[in-house]
Amino acid sequence: MYPSRFRYEAPRTLGEAISLLRDGGEDAKVLAGGQSLVPLMKLRFASPSLLVDINNIGGLGYHRRDPDGTIRVGALCRHADLERSDLLKASQPTMAAAAPLIADPIVRNRGTLVGSLCHADPQGDWAAVILALGGSVVAEGPAGRRAIPMAGFVTGPFQNALRHDEIAVEAVIPAPAGTPAGGYLKLERRVGDFATVGVAVAIETSGGVVSRAGIALTGVGAATIGAAEAAAALTGQPLSEETIAAAARLAAAAAQPRTDHRGSAEYKRHMVGVFVRRILSRVNGSGAGAGAAGQERAA
Ligand SMILES: Cc1cc2nc3c(=O)[nH]c(=O)nc-3n(C[C@H](O)[C@H](O)[C@H](O)COP(=O)(O)OP(=O)(O)OC[C@H]3O[C@@H](n4cnc5c(N)ncnc54)[C@H](O)[C@@H]3O)c2cc1C
Repeated sequence: MYPSRFRYEAPRTLGEAISLLRDGGEDAKVLAGGQSLVPLMKLRFASPSLLVDINNIGGLGYHRRDPDGTIRVGALCRHADLERSDLLKASQPTMAAAAPLIADPIVRNRGTLVGSLCHADPQGDWAAVILALGGSVVAEGPAGRRAIPMAGFVTGPFQNALRHDEIAVEAVIPAPAGTPAGGYLKLERRVGDFATVGVAVAIETSGGVVSRAGIALTGVGAATIGAAEAAAALTGQPLSEETIAAAARLAAAAAQPRTDHRGSAEYKRHMVGVFVRRILSRVNGSGAGAGAAGQERAA
């Protein structure tokens, strides 16, 4: 099927793009990698009257680590850039584990992390990762910039907290106070599929105890789920068989899976617990250093 008619603009500055969105009204849409929006337009599930293509705007393709340890991912940083990133491999194990598990190489070459957050698909992998890390999205609009915590950025399935004339310019992951560790595990029917179950675990350790913990779940609810009680069971505790088992049990309890063509609700809930235990056990076995519990596809 062909998309409905639309106007196409490819501005060269953020200011121009924001003006176009402001004048275009509620029906205008940002085009980043196009890996979610274009298929929706071809199916006519989305029929924007105006597409504002941001790919000609310079300076948005970065991902970098500030001197204080904050990680910033620009709106045009592709999944593939993150998959190949030595910076993430060295300093951010949960993101490094997730990047190769997004879709397939073709989608990863064009799709963006920020676009994935904006798309707010309950089965999108990055939302769980950024939520577990306590990250935020920086939006720019006619009134300037504002940071929106990831916990409040997704307002429902395929809905986000951006105003119609705002562009998400970057995702921000706060500097860790302790040593970061963690991972992302994804159960998929075949390589490149969306998650049947995805689990992001991001912890920081300091002086032998977990000083901060975040656990978030993909594909087991109507939106990404933050498993706050599971994370709280780890915080202030040393990693041990008991604390890991408690976190796994509480994360499984936080899931709200439904039986569908990908598996039964019981199976998905069980897999949440398995993945939490697997990631944390590997971290524990490795001494909780950065890079622990790397990527895995569980097809
Ligand atoms: C075959 C296939 C398999 C896939 N598998 C997976 C998978 O396993 N896991 C996964 O997580 N994702 C998967 N995806 C989705 C993919 O990751 C997309 O790249 C991502 O969801 C959207 O990023 P994008 O840059 O392509 O955004 P686009 O498609 O350009 O935009 C998506 C939405 O976000 C909005 N948007 C994008 N960028 C901005 C911005 N900077 N500011 C404001 N609004 C913005 C757009 O207006 C649109 O509504 C898959 C896609 C395909 C086609």
